[in-house]
Amino acid sequence: MWRCIDVATALKAGKYQDLSPWRRFLLRCHVLFCFVCGKYHRDLMHSQDIEVKLRDAPESCCPHSLEADQADRLKRRLEEELRKDSKPE
Ligand SMILES: [Zn+2]
Repeated sequence: MWRCIDVATALKAGKYQDLSPWRRFLLRCHVLFCFVCGKYHRDLMHSQDIEVKLRDAPESCCPHSLEADQADRLKRRLEEELRKDSKPE
């Protein structure tokens, strides 16, 4: 049976997905039922899942990219707005 410290050590490496299927199963069981560390480690595993998805397919996160001229226009508009806000009235 995995202890909280074992789960923490396995997740500390940053890639629980690389564990063997059996070890990953044991880790998930511990995290599912442990009232001490379960919530924290579930969140950590979720963060690692997102990291893997973004690394493997970054376009899946943000399928709409801006054209170069759109980005420039937005940047100029943002600068204007910031200038307006920083001027004393
Ligand atoms: Zn635990």
